[in-house]
Amino acid sequence: MNYKEALKNPIFKIISQAAKDIGVDSYVIGGFVRDHILERGEHKDIDIVAIGSGIKLAKQVAKNLPNSPKVQVFKTYGTAMLVYEDMDIEFVGARKESYTQDSRNPIVENGSLQDDQNRRDFTINAMALSLSADSFGNLLDPFNGVEDLEHKIIRTPLDPDITYSDDPLRMMRAIRFATQLNFTIEAASLESIFRNKERIKIITKERIVVELNKILLSETPSVGFLLLEKTGLLEFILPELTALKGIDEVEGQTHKDNFYHTLEVVDNIAKNTEDVWLRWAALLHDIGKAPTKKFSKKVGWTFHAHEFVGSKMVYKLFKRLKMPLNEKMKFVQKMVFMSSRPIVLAQDMVTDSAVRRLIFDAGEYVEDLMILCEADITTKNPKRFKKYHKNFQVVRQKIDEVEARDHVRNFQPPVSGEEIMEAFDLKPSREIGQIKEAIKEAILEGDIPNEHEAAHQLMLKLGEKLGLKATL
Ligand code: ATP
Ligand code: MG
Repeated sequence: MNYKEALKNPIFKIISQAAKDIGVDSYVIGGFVRDHILERGEHKDIDIVAIGSGIKLAKQVAKNLPNSPKVQVFKTYGTAMLVYEDMDIEFVGARKESYTQDSRNPIVENGSLQDDQNRRDFTINAMALSLSADSFGNLLDPFNGVEDLEHKIIRTPLDPDITYSDDPLRMMRAIRFATQLNFTIEAASLESIFRNKERIKIITKERIVVELNKILLSETPSVGFLLLEKTGLLEFILPELTALKGIDEVEGQTHKDNFYHTLEVVDNIAKNTEDVWLRWAALLHDIGKAPTKKFSKKVGWTFHAHEFVGSKMVYKLFKRLKMPLNEKMKFVQKMVFMSSRPIVLAQDMVTDSAVRRLIFDAGEYVEDLMILCEADITTKNPKRFKKYHKNFQVVRQKIDEVEARDHVRNFQPPVSGEEIMEAFDLKPSREIGQIKEAIKEAILEGDIPNEHEAAHQLMLKLGEKLGLKATL
């Protein structure tokens, strides 16, 4: 098979020439080849294998390019990288790898193309296109990757127990590719992942999170989370989620399985946002339900304060997975903490003051919160489904109306502390906070409009009640 059209970008001829200049053969390998055959659109990171030194080849390519781009060399890995137009091009020498028990970092020797293809994770990622002048565009596909692409199968080039045990990150990658490409992991591989699941412990958290994020950003993330659960990996990575599994029954009363519910919510939200953090919020919105679950004869199953407990768990989970503990984490916490608010609203009468409080508390994230809560509607009762969605329409409309009128989204107190101090000739004191709080409450309740004059009048009244003397 000839794939010349895959290599029509002039960069491939330039690499071909550079390889000839230094007397080595070179190939494009991996994701670029795979995605071209799948017609997934241009793959922007290009992997080049040199049968010889990848670093040398990178330097020669840079030399031959008109703008002589900078070459970044990673000596410890024997790789080099350069940027050409909008592409990251990585160069590596073909290698043969052998692994030890306790690390995913192999002992590396120089090798042939075949050696290099053997160390690749999946047959569909091991295909190479020749860049040599006499075989330019020829496909080298020793493991029938093309066939596996056709059959939508994830398969390892070697015995899966070797591939996965050598580098357990590949277990995550298998599931991630299955999710992104909507492929099936072949049975032998799936069993092997189950057998090797514990080895995920030697993988750094950062790399695991990279794969989790890619799963979350897929069109149907549940595919990946179901596979993580089935293979037993999820228990090691996100035990907070596996704890949500199962339905308990006491005295004939049951609750929904919050694990499957969560996955439905994540799939729902994937249709409405590309924001990975909002998708994280969907994934974690119910984690507080496991530790708060209780049964009482009077009210049946409850998950009292699960939103609060869940938001605290978000911090621990982010910390454990070495995820950023910055405003993104706080955003996820806030979404989890507020995740029931609009639902409660939509279940009965939507009052202006309830909407005003919602906007006040959610601030700039009120739209994200609405997206989360709409995704949270997974009831199988069509009547209820319709009712909730309709009520959310009302909530959204009210949000717009109330916000246009009262501007509480980025609430600034209409009367400042200084103004209160001046009005009553006060030093900093408790009364100032009390007056400010009472004014805010009056605005949120709708007793006064969010305007200076009304707030000032109320301030005078409140001061009087507190026994303060106005200065004028
Ligand atoms: P994508 O860029 O969409 O994540 P990709 O296949 O290009 O997909 P990369 O992580 O960019 O994945 O890796 C490039 C290539 O390197 C892969 O196609 C594969 O051949 C090889 N590779 C990457 N990681 C591993 C690994 N852990 N074990 C074996 N081979 C790997
Ligand atoms: Mg890639």
